[in-house]
Amino acid sequence: MKEIIEPFRIKVVEPIGFTDQAERERILGEAHYNPFLIPADKILIDLLTDSGTSAMSAAQWGAVMVGDESYAGSRSFFRFEKVVRDITGLKHVIPVHQGRAAERLLFGLIGGVGRHVPNNNHFDTTRANVEFSGATADDLVVDEAKDFDSDYPFKGNLDPNKLRAYIRTNAARSIPVIMLTVTNNAGGGQPASMANIREVSEIARENAIPFFLDACRFAENAYFIKLREPGYEHKSAKEIAQEMFSHADGATMSLKKDGFGNIGGFLALNADVLAEKARNLLILTEGFPTYGGLAGRDLEALATGLEEVLDERYLEYRLACSRYLADHLTEIGIHVVQPPGGHAVYVDAKRFYPQIDSLQFPAQRLVAEIYSKGGVRAAEIGTVMFGKKDQTTGADIPSDKELVRLALPRRVYTQAHINYLIEIFAEVFAEREAARGLRIVQESPMLRHFTAHFKPIT
Ligand SMILES: *Cc1c(COP(=O)(O)O)cnc(C)c1O
Repeated sequence: MKEIIEPFRIKVVEPIGFTDQAERERILGEAHYNPFLIPADKILIDLLTDSGTSAMSAAQWGAVMVGDESYAGSRSFFRFEKVVRDITGLKHVIPVHQGRAAERLLFGLIGGVGRHVPNNNHFDTTRANVEFSGATADDLVVDEAKDFDSDYPFKGNLDPNKLRAYIRTNAARSIPVIMLTVTNNAGGGQPASMANIREVSEIARENAIPFFLDACRFAENAYFIKLREPGYEHKSAKEIAQEMFSHADGATMSLKKDGFGNIGGFLALNADVLAEKARNLLILTEGFPTYGGLAGRDLEALATGLEEVLDERYLEYRLACSRYLADHLTEIGIHVVQPPGGHAVYVDAKRFYPQIDSLQFPAQRLVAEIYSKGGVRAAEIGTVMFGKKDQTTGADIPSDKELVRLALPRRVYTQAHINYLIEIFAEVFAEREAARGLRIVQESPMLRHFTAHFKPIT
């Protein structure tokens, strides 16, 4: 097979932030060892997130110029609505400024004290919005997801047996929605199979519970199905995506992921009354229903992005990128979550730094090291992000995983950038035995990873 190449050429370029190691060590201290607090122009390769960091295409930039900025009834909205409906088949399309705004609308209406929301794994903003409403957010992913070495092809599946037991324990009427995140971001960017989507939707229907997809990376999930699920090898990514959505009653989506957008999202659903309520809330906090929290030009760029993301040459290249990075890190001796997800490679920091206890944040330490060595920024997905607090003592309860997420922005970095990253990891790995943990000196009660301050333990 020939090399899978970047399926684009570059028309616009942007310089990246070169610094030396002494400078980076000073910057890291000033940012309290939290990469979210480092100014972006001091980052060489930014793998903090794939969210809102995509390179837009020439066609998207062209679409920006034809955006209709009318307050009501914008032509750009109707184009956006048509594209979203074509892919999802869902009746009501409600534009919002990003995914969490869709979550806030949804859980503001159907959440609340005494309610229970199951998901494969809740993404952090989804969990926060469920819990902020007073409801409980529970993760029912299959057990295979916990074994980082298993090459089970659909580690994003929601366990149907756990779901049935969950419905028996909590009573269907206390469950306002069953969510399924595709791909499963908090669970390693792993896909859910069509068989699982179908089965979960059947369980939802039997119990008269609505079934929603958190569809941020639906196109990557669709292409994984094409590559891995028998019976789908000859279907197009678009047909597979349409079939995925055909099982759902609704979806939330951040278009900063598979929408190729720098901002944007939607809530889409079939239920008329709920949609009406959501639009009324939308007017209160986001904007009129034909623009939500977006400009007309955004709606145009996003509609074009949603069409482009289902291009199979792109999706083939996209999944080859994470595979390439994962394979090379594995060759060095670094453990990564297998098989690699679509949008990111997750390094197992527990095995990278076995000497650092989870309560001293090994993944946060690794994030700090790759910045200091190479100017690379990545995200901690471990006890800082997902650790719970003991209700009485306030002490940290460790997360069961300590991962560093190397998220790959779409169409942004070339293979040479990735090769450089692999060199940095080899250097940090060679010095792993000397590393110590960190402690938190300042934190916020919710989503603390964005703003927490750390100090090295000496
Ligand atoms: C990014 C993301 C969200 C939230 O979207 P924002 O646009 O960041 O508000 C929700 N769920 C998943 C799975 C995500 O990846």
